[in-house]
Amino acid sequence: MALIVQKFGGTSVADPEKIKNVAKRVLSKKRDGNQVVVVLSAMSGETNRLTDFALAMQDIPDAREMDVLLSSGEQVTISLFAMAVKAMGGECVSFLGDQVKIETDSSHTRARIENIDSDRILGELNSDKIVVVAGFQGVAENGDITTLGRGGSDTTAVALAAALKADACEIFTDVEGVYTTDPNMCSSAIKIDKISYDEMLELASLGAKVLDIRSVTFAKQYNVPVHVRSTFTETEGTWVVKEDKDMEGKVVSGVTYNKNEARITISGVPDQPGIATKIFTPISDADIIVDMIIQNQDTGNGMTDMTFTVIRSDYQRTLKLLESVVKETGATGGIHGSDSITKISIVGVGMRNHSGIATTMFSILSREGINISMISTSEIKVSCIIEEKYTELAVRALHDAFELGKDSLPEEETL
Ligand code: ADP
Ligand code: ASP
Ligand code: MG
Repeated sequence: MALIVQKFGGTSVADPEKIKNVAKRVLSKKRDGNQVVVVLSAMSGETNRLTDFALAMQDIPDAREMDVLLSSGEQVTISLFAMAVKAMGGECVSFLGDQVKIETDSSHTRARIENIDSDRILGELNSDKIVVVAGFQGVAENGDITTLGRGGSDTTAVALAAALKADACEIFTDVEGVYTTDPNMCSSAIKIDKISYDEMLELASLGAKVLDIRSVTFAKQYNVPVHVRSTFTETEGTWVVKEDKDMEGKVVSGVTYNKNEARITISGVPDQPGIATKIFTPISDADIIVDMIIQNQDTGNGMTDMTFTVIRSDYQRTLKLLESVVKETGATGGIHGSDSITKISIVGVGMRNHSGIATTMFSILSREGINISMISTSEIKVSCIIEEKYTELAVRALHDAFELGKDSLPEEETL
């Protein structure tokens, strides 16, 4: 008998009919002789709807109350699901995060799972029930409800699979797996059968929202095989597993984009020890996350520029914070930036052993007339910041040029 964790995303449980279909699918897995733990998201659009309500109350909603509010979305779907299973003759029990002790730290709206007490779930499984757990939520040490950040139900599922030592974690969604790029943006994208944890970590961190990055971190740490697949078909999806030899065959395995960042430059700051601290301390004190950072070489006048990116919703707040930094550092060029940028990236473990991949990326973007304003690289990825309006063009051009799609031409013909 296998123990399987199955997670269904918002589009899979978008209305009562869809919840019944999910219940049918889960019951059939159970009747095949498996123990099944189900993790559900809120109905699609619900978390956004609740967020809008909160914003109508407070410009920056109180984080503790936000968690009380947002966690309600998943409470609706798990209870309806349990009723649907019972109506079909199955045994099922639903649990909120604090009932099965998904213990987190106390960082409201972006809490981290610290521990899961699996005894209660195992007890219910052993009495032959399907267990359904609310995704995206947990409980802090003081008993307060916490949430894990947007997309966090994937993380609940993989963390539960790790705690229960499940045989696999299945992530059911609205596409048939992890693709070479977003299949909703590029119709020639193809499904990847098997991908390593490391590649998936890069894809997820660079914008492929099909899996939440923290879920991949858990999967890698506890060696949980993750199967990403469609709720609406029986087709085999993508396995996210430990790296093996045949994965190195492809130099580039995916193209991602992230429209959730903004770029800021502070110009003409004195090129002296301590300048980076002066710029970034107020930003980190305000709990703002900085992603890419580039500091220019001193051009001879003892001055330099610092360019970096932040999450787009923190753009205005960061600009405000920097006003006092400009005064303190005497930055002569002031602050400028843009919140209509995209980070476009290519990812592949094969890049470790190949040169010239970044150059190919730059030449493709230049052939399309797309300007690059920032570049960052790691062992298995290259990222460029471009104007947001070119996102689709860039994704398709790179996807074609690296021969990732079903319709792509050989590289010589496209370059
Ligand atoms: P769920 O609500 O099931 O959690 P999400 O909307 O979070 O689903 O994630 C699925 C979406 O991820 C797809 O509809 C697709 O548009 C998007 N996506 C982005 N990049 C990729 C990729 N490389 N492969 C598959 N889907 C991707
Ligand atoms: N409902 C939450 C969200 O929309 C969590 C999730 O669906 O994973 O972000
Ligand atoms: Mg998701």
